[in-house]
Amino acid sequence: NKRVILSNYVTGFPKESDMKITSGSIKLKVAEGSKDTVLLKNLYLSCDPYMRWRMSKLDRPSFVDSFHPGELKFWILHIQNYAKDDLVWGSTGWEEYSLVTAPQLLIKIQHTDVPLSYYTGILGMPGVTAYAGLYEVCSPKKGEYVYVSAASGAVGQLVGQFAKLAGCYVVGSAGSKEKVDLLKNKFGFDDAFNYKEEPDLDAALKRCFPQGIDIYFENVGGKMLDAVLLNMRLRGRIAVCGMISQYNLEKPEGVHNLEQLIGKRIRLEGFLAGDYYHLYPKFLELVIPAIREGKMVYVEDIAEGLENAPAALVGLFTGRNVGKQLVAVA
Ligand code: NDP
Repeated sequence: NKRVILSNYVTGFPKESDMKITSGSIKLKVAEGSKDTVLLKNLYLSCDPYMRWRMSKLDRPSFVDSFHPGELKFWILHIQNYAKDDLVWGSTGWEEYSLVTAPQLLIKIQHTDVPLSYYTGILGMPGVTAYAGLYEVCSPKKGEYVYVSAASGAVGQLVGQFAKLAGCYVVGSAGSKEKVDLLKNKFGFDDAFNYKEEPDLDAALKRCFPQGIDIYFENVGGKMLDAVLLNMRLRGRIAVCGMISQYNLEKPEGVHNLEQLIGKRIRLEGFLAGDYYHLYPKFLELVIPAIREGKMVYVEDIAEGLENAPAALVGLFTGRNVGKQLVAVA
């Protein structure tokens, strides 16, 4: 069983050498008649920015624990009943085969007329994140102005499409011309800009939103959040999904414009996808038909083979991925 494990706690930008590939046999220590352990063959593995937190020795409160060098595991929720050859998505190690014991997140896959890789993205955790963060946290109304940062990624491309389904005007930012083109021509954003070519983010936002922003879906943090705060409208909502620009810093940057929250009565709310999995059936009712009818699309960036997983994960922090980054294992 080949696995990717953490070599050492990471400081600063993660490197491929912070992880290593090991191989060994899987230990099958399942009690006779046990109904709470399953052996999984992993087909696709997901690369997610939050894994960076877990690669540090965390020195402040966090919703996840640190990985320990020698392991690379995921977070855990619940288990149901499974039969041989069932297809599932959920939390496993980065390895060819996983022995999964309750209580762990495993959800049975019901719809197989879509690519199975989608269960790492549009039909998996990033999908629930985009859906809950936009619809549940921000309650978008027709005609509202929505801004999404890191907009071409796993979560962002979906937030933009959900906001269009809700009848909003949507602008996204991303870090290359290719990604900006995708936002405008593939995902249906009304406008988009390359934040790396906009030294004055406040001016870029004023150009795209002369009337201001009602909803900001925050994926980036730092200077971007500061610029957005200056451009929010009265009773705006900010869903704090992530702050990827901060994850590799020893000390997070300060945010200077928080006083904008007061006069504009802005609601700034952090959220976690894990709190919304009870909505998964309702989410599928919206997304599965939308995929089948071509009303929603999804762009993936698929690395081939477990040995390319470390580079794929590291690439999230330089924007190397175009769309949802995942790894095809088998
Ligand atoms: P993406 O697929 O968007 O990949 C990360 C992208 O972030 C990169 O491609 C890059 O795009 C951008 N990026 C990297 N570094 C920086 C930087 N310093 N400044 C600005 N942009 C940067 O990842 P996801 O869609 O999976 O995740 C997006 C965000 O959502 C992350 O912050 C993540 O932590 C968060 N998240 C939160 C969840 C929750 O439950 N709250 C669940 C899932 C994700 P570009 O080329 O555009 O710079």
